[in-house]
Amino acid sequence: MKAAYYTGDQSFTIREDQPKEPQAGEARVKIAYCGICGTDLHVYHGAMDARVTTNRVVGHECSGIVDALGEGVEGFEVGDQVVIRPLASCGECPACKKGYTHVCQKLKFLGLDTEGAFQQAWTLPANTLHKVPADMRLDFAALIEPTAVACHDVARANIQPGEDVLVIGGGPIGLLVAMVAKQAGGNVVVSEVSEYRLGIAEKLGFKTLNAMKVNVAEEVWKMTGDKGAEVVFEVSATQPGVDTMTEAAAVRGRIVMVGIIGGRKPEVDLFKFFWRELQLLGARVYEAADYEKAIELIVSGAIDCETLITDIQELEDITKAFQALDGNATAMKSLIKCS
Ligand SMILES: [Zn+2]
Ligand SMILES: [Zn+2]
Repeated sequence: MKAAYYTGDQSFTIREDQPKEPQAGEARVKIAYCGICGTDLHVYHGAMDARVTTNRVVGHECSGIVDALGEGVEGFEVGDQVVIRPLASCGECPACKKGYTHVCQKLKFLGLDTEGAFQQAWTLPANTLHKVPADMRLDFAALIEPTAVACHDVARANIQPGEDVLVIGGGPIGLLVAMVAKQAGGNVVVSEVSEYRLGIAEKLGFKTLNAMKVNVAEEVWKMTGDKGAEVVFEVSATQPGVDTMTEAAAVRGRIVMVGIIGGRKPEVDLFKFFWRELQLLGARVYEAADYEKAIELIVSGAIDCETLITDIQELEDITKAFQALDGNATAMKSLIKCS
């Protein structure tokens, strides 16, 4: 079988590997599609070499078919269509004991800290699998992982029907957050700087604000009758986005930090937290329930997968796919067809 190894410095090498036999508690999944995540792009640029090494199969936004099962695995059969929740928690730390296994203090992320999905068959712990319907399109199923991220973000915000919601940043995750928030009953507006992405947000039926042309917070106050947004998702990972999140939030508003800001720490206007009794919520990856919700939303058609998937390439062309996605303002989600 073929496997694409990240071999450092914006390159992948395709190798012929022997599929691994699943051990007790493991499953082997024939990978159908795997999406390229922003994190994978960081890997590609060498920003995570210390963690990932320069000899690893990465990738984690995948769908596939159960190919073989190790001893003691229950609830799955060979031939089942599945997706993978790529987390390995220790089960013993204080966070795990409290039930927060997705933010385990020794959490391993599969496809970064271990091998991942850009290969034709992946052998991994069976407790990471979620079954999807037998007739579900596996290209759409590859969007379950990023949709689960959005489901977790929206669950953290605890959106109530009719609440005004601002999503800052209209990339793939921002638009998924917007779609899930709308399903939860939110009255959603998306702000973005790219005309192209604004066009996609509008095509998906959202009100939009062009952050290059208008003061987003002022517009939100106008649109909400001088109330502000009850819920703000900061997905842009930029200082202007962080400024807008506190400016646009209503009294007692909840702000969810979705965009990961590495390097320089952003400046946050803490005065606004005092003045309007705001809440700031962290959100990291997903829990099993977020996966089930994501599966339900994609199966029901509430998530427009067709619009979000803008490119599909063969595994052999993975370097080309990363090159094409890199810095491309018109791309949303790129998938790799593994087998
Ligand atoms: Zn991802
Ligand atoms: Zn743990």
